[in-house]
Amino acid sequence: MVSGKTVLMTGAAGFLGSHLCDWFIDRKFQVMAVDNLLTGSKRNIAHLTKNKNFKFLNHNISQPLKVIGPVDYVLHFASPASPVDYMNHPIATMEAGAYGTQNSLEIAKLKESVFLLASTSEVYGDPLVHPQKEDYWGNVNPHGLRSIYDEAKRFAEAMTFAYGRQYKMDVKIARIFNTYGPRMQIKDGRVVPNFIDQILHHRPLTVYGNGKQTRSFCYVDDLIDGITRLLFSNLPGPVNIGNPREFTILEFASLIKKLYNPKAKIVFKPLPQDDPKQRRPDITLARQKLGWEPKVPLEQGIKLTMDWFRNNI
Ligand code: UDP
Repeated sequence: MVSGKTVLMTGAAGFLGSHLCDWFIDRKFQVMAVDNLLTGSKRNIAHLTKNKNFKFLNHNISQPLKVIGPVDYVLHFASPASPVDYMNHPIATMEAGAYGTQNSLEIAKLKESVFLLASTSEVYGDPLVHPQKEDYWGNVNPHGLRSIYDEAKRFAEAMTFAYGRQYKMDVKIARIFNTYGPRMQIKDGRVVPNFIDQILHHRPLTVYGNGKQTRSFCYVDDLIDGITRLLFSNLPGPVNIGNPREFTILEFASLIKKLYNPKAKIVFKPLPQDDPKQRRPDITLARQKLGWEPKVPLEQGIKLTMDWFRNNI
């Protein structure tokens, strides 16, 4: 890892993209931040715009991009990522996974950059193997409501390795599991911002289905640590980056209730189509090859996130 190098970050105004921009700016990298602000927000990067090492370009990476000057690292994070967002933008989501990935790879090929793809636990679909290890191929509905995201990311993984093999490029794939923290959009429909919004506005917590489906939540700082370790490693992946502490959604709702408002009601709402029944990363590979594991306990991460939302909505 060398300061002064140039990073091209797609999805730079998004939740994870903006935290990665901070990480690189803090370490004196030059950051070319690309985002078309479809689901990202300029607010997430407003504090960086005066920094001389930071350049923002309003561009949809699903269209080709000509870049002047050297680029040492390309990180492709542009995509709607919450189920509500990607279902609102089905075609744009598929384009970001397909053309966006290829256009980012083309830049990396031309500039001889290291390339990192933000993939997802959604490539495992509604997994029949538990916990999920990287060698599991998944159980994905190829045309259901979630397919636009799942299949786009599966295509993106295949395309990334196709470029890696054909052009002998240094490519890496991170499979990101549920992540939460400051700068999520309060209205993106995901369970963490929904529960926080509901607590802050004294509304009942909405649990979908019977709440027995499981998720494992990783705090954003841990996630960024895992991604950057992968970027500067010699591991291509794919590698799971997530927190293996697993909760049923009902347990998670009960924990939030206990911590923030024991009087809060829990109401049950219909389960969305193809909602995965279980999800938990096996992070043995990341532990062994990257020396990485998450450190922030959920209770602490939720408090940090809750405090941020209190001041920012
Ligand atoms: N969920 C819920 N209540 C909400 C929002 C989500 O019970 O208000 C459930 C959702 O059905 C899923 C889990 O929480 O089982 C995580 O959903 P999220 O949208 O955060 O992300 P996903 O892991 O499904 O991509």
